[in-house]
Amino acid sequence: MRIDKLLSNIGYGSRKEVKQLLKTGAVKADGISIKDAKTHVDPAAQMITVHGETVEYKEHIYLMLNKPGGYLSATEDSVQETVIDLLEMEDAVYKPFPVGRLDKDTEGLLLLTNDGQLSHQLLSPKKHVPKTYYAKILGKVTEEDAAAFKQGVELDDGYVTKPASLVILSADEQSEINITITEGKFHQVKRMFEAVGKKVTYLKRISMGPLLLDENLALGEYRELTDEEVEALQ
Ligand code: URA
Repeated sequence: MRIDKLLSNIGYGSRKEVKQLLKTGAVKADGISIKDAKTHVDPAAQMITVHGETVEYKEHIYLMLNKPGGYLSATEDSVQETVIDLLEMEDAVYKPFPVGRLDKDTEGLLLLTNDGQLSHQLLSPKKHVPKTYYAKILGKVTEEDAAAFKQGVELDDGYVTKPASLVILSADEQSEINITITEGKFHQVKRMFEAVGKKVTYLKRISMGPLLLDENLALGEYRELTDEEVEALQ
């Protein structure tokens, strides 16, 4: 990769600014100054420094965000805030994108990465990656609802959902449940409850495949996945 592209990608400014930086001799690869912006470097094999500080470069970034309500699961929007607005510049420079979508008002686990292959795998309908949500429901959720979800329910557009498992945590005029689905249809959980005459009033994703939402993350906070978490997702 060209040194100007690398440094620009990870936040050292525009290509023009990086060119100026290079001219000052501040950038070195394995101790040797690089002044030509066109020089190719291999950040995995060479030690790149700027003003003596080692440049951290990773090809892929994997972030677990505890998404708050009010943010779009998108990389950009001309009007509304997106989950990318919650990231520090040093992470945003890797250009991560959300793996799948949570509705604007849905909270909880959202994986952000720039690893297209992993994202593709996790979203592939063939993989049936389970996603578990905690929800508050207006109405008394019953074992009949659980049986219906196990069977598959017909959504408003005629689509019949794949078997989903419902755990009733409390059931009254307001109920609390956990639901695990293996698909990702638009507004799926909300529409499944509509199919049984109930309304989701709060929705939070708590897991995706082997990945569990880190309870230490407050809403809007995020952290990098551990190597073990990344491995478990492969
Ligand atoms: N199902 C929904 O209805 N909304 C989400 O955000 C995720 C699953």
